[in-house]
Amino acid sequence: MKDHRLILINPANTWRRGFLLRNESRQAPLGLGIVAALTPPEWKIKILDENFRKFRFQPADLVGITSFTSTITRAYEIADLYRQQGIPVVIGGIHASAMPVEALNHCDAVVVGEAESTWPQVIADFHAGKLQKIYHGTFGDMKLSPRPRHDLFHPGYYFASVQTSRGCPMDCEFCSVPSFNGHKYRLREVNQILDELESLPHKLIYFVDDNIIGYGQLAEQHARSLFQGMIDRKLNKEWFAQTSLNIAEKPDLLQLAAKAGCRMVLIGIEAEKPAQLKDANKRLNLKMGVDVYRQSFRTIHKAGIAILGAFIYGLDSDTPADIRNRTRYIMRSSVDVTQASILTPLPGTRLFENYSKNQRLLINQFPEGWKHFHFTDVVFNPVKMTPEQLAREVTRAYRHLLSKRYLCFSFIRTWWNTQSLRTAVWAWNSNLNYKSLALERPVSFSYTNHTPPHEP
Ligand code: SF4
Repeated sequence: MKDHRLILINPANTWRRGFLLRNESRQAPLGLGIVAALTPPEWKIKILDENFRKFRFQPADLVGITSFTSTITRAYEIADLYRQQGIPVVIGGIHASAMPVEALNHCDAVVVGEAESTWPQVIADFHAGKLQKIYHGTFGDMKLSPRPRHDLFHPGYYFASVQTSRGCPMDCEFCSVPSFNGHKYRLREVNQILDELESLPHKLIYFVDDNIIGYGQLAEQHARSLFQGMIDRKLNKEWFAQTSLNIAEKPDLLQLAAKAGCRMVLIGIEAEKPAQLKDANKRLNLKMGVDVYRQSFRTIHKAGIAILGAFIYGLDSDTPADIRNRTRYIMRSSVDVTQASILTPLPGTRLFENYSKNQRLLINQFPEGWKHFHFTDVVFNPVKMTPEQLAREVTRAYRHLLSKRYLCFSFIRTWWNTQSLRTAVWAWNSNLNYKSLALERPVSFSYTNHTPPHEP
């Protein structure tokens, strides 16, 4: 039987590179690594990754493209090129899973949801010459998930991406994780994760989970075993992960994480006032109460770990004054790195359904308009201000949050709070990544005149 060629593609946004401008902030397309691992060994597989090099056509028997909403416009351009050559294209990822009908205008088949339960069938149907239009994945047992083919990722990634769990029982209105990965929190085998970590040459690891400590005792025990395993095996990695604010209620777990190499945790703080947290249905932060933020940050710092605080501008009860107050709050709090994004209604979320139904989206030309759904353009009508006001306030906020003066102050503060120069350097580098995000282009808010996309 002849060898077949599978080309897997990770497209880049042609409008704004943003966070991906710097090598340090790029994340390997883990989903493509899993698809490659699920493909029979007789296939020749290559990943074309626009994070590093603009796409150039390469011959294939089958093409697989992954995409977020912000990169789907580019994904469709590339898919169209292959289909013009009569080469079948399969699109997967979070956007196509939410909008499979739209995706089918540009591909032969859509994988909705996780690839583990569908990709072997896609390959079988390809061989039989009868690809189905839509393959629906199930939320399978993560213990059966294969180790991603890290060897196929571009060697330029500073961080290796590793996943330890999937799913989230929470229900934040703006988040597409529960619809894509389900509400049930599913865990991988600790030894599988440790073996994978051991096989990676990278010193730096990004745990892509939505919450590394998960929800409930079983998940917490899983995190403890993982951290202890990293220590016992002397992996000597440094890492960064997303987690929830309640990690601060477990100082011993924080100490263990730090001993296992944790340098920074990303926490979705979103806002400093209960009214805005209610807008976003951020239940956990509401339950803990905004008064505990300060003490929580102190506990995390005490373990020598920096905090990357994620905040949102443009929540329904936000006024221009609230945006300014949030910026002031961030600067006075001891958050070390700020990810300040504009509320963005992504397909697959309740927020998107709500804004579409109530005609609050500013963009009505799709798929071209999806390139603006990357968290730093205003794509909807806010309640208590105009889109222009929101864009102006966010631009002003970025000017303050990303000023050289504030970043230098923040570096020293992190060093002081964590008593770790290494952690302060980590936070400094992350701040530089966000600086590039905000400075690339002005915040857009008006879409009547379409600016031609620039090439990456
Ligand atoms: S934002 Fe975090 S906590 Fe909220 S639903 Fe998404 S993954 Fe879960």
